[in-house]
Amino acid sequence: MKPQAMRQGVVVFGSLNMDLVARVPRMPRPGETLTGESLLVNPGGKGANQAVACALQGARVQMVGRVGDDDFADQLRAALDSRRVDHTGVGSTPGQSTGVAMIMVDSSGQNCITVIPGANASVTVADADLLRTHLERSAMLLLQLEVPLDSVVRAAAVARQAGCTVLLNPAPAQLLPPELWRSIDILVVNESEASLLSGMPLVTRSNAGEAANLLRRSGPGDVLVTLGEQGVVWSSGAGTQHFVAQPVVAVDTTAAGDTFIGAFAALRAEGRGMAEAIRHAIRAAAICVTRVGAQASMPSRADVLRETF
Ligand code: ATP
Repeated sequence: MKPQAMRQGVVVFGSLNMDLVARVPRMPRPGETLTGESLLVNPGGKGANQAVACALQGARVQMVGRVGDDDFADQLRAALDSRRVDHTGVGSTPGQSTGVAMIMVDSSGQNCITVIPGANASVTVADADLLRTHLERSAMLLLQLEVPLDSVVRAAAVARQAGCTVLLNPAPAQLLPPELWRSIDILVVNESEASLLSGMPLVTRSNAGEAANLLRRSGPGDVLVTLGEQGVVWSSGAGTQHFVAQPVVAVDTTAAGDTFIGAFAALRAEGRGMAEAIRHAIRAAAICVTRVGAQASMPSRADVLRETF
């Protein structure tokens, strides 16, 4: 097994979607046909978003997941290419559509989203087993919950065996089996995920430390609770610490969490300490919320270093 100091790069095992964003004057009623205003077609999916955010901070990133055999698959691969994410680990599932998120945004900014997982749902435990070769050279594995849970559980176990740090972002939120809890090194949750997993009815800035400490008892050595404009709480064996968010005028918070996680992972993978990685990720996420879009709003390393806020 390679010592941690000789490992480089990040593997992301998760979802790839095409986001179809329609602007509509108002939400249509059942049975109604409405004329929309515009359509944006954007690469997305939590896995691919975190991979792009991480690569933009300079990490070597390998994406592992599944797309269908349609035009969206080619477009998603091209988007990863443009951000230097290695997608040789992204397989095609014959006869399946690529994952799609259909998003309607009305004039008041409210949205309605339908996600069709498509090929993301065909990710298997066997795909997770194939991670082994990548993980033996990598510093960190990033996981979310937009691919089947049994494959996530196996991926985490394989990474653990390979001596690779496992970071789980349990989104969309669902309860986790004990064997997954045991394989997580770093858990990153927002307020609603923290609430569901800790059993605390409401998690806010005032009790995020308590929630994080509770979650740490289930297994992860480090828990980060992201609190939007309220910043981040980090719980570790040494206690809890709050980091303030960078004050900015937010125009679109889409992918703030994915930007935070990708940037955090990039800095950890290059051997930076937890606090330094959190502070850098907070700056990257703050830039993201000042721009419109998901992957399109993510800053480069140079953007983060240059920004004076
Ligand atoms: P999303 O689902 O929109 O990607 P999330 O709910 O997973 O986001 P958040 O906690 O909202 O994650 O945001 C992640 C991080 O992004 C925050 O911890 C913070 O550092 C930064 N951030 C989010 N919103 C703002 C904001 N309005 N101003 C400054 N920073 C922000």
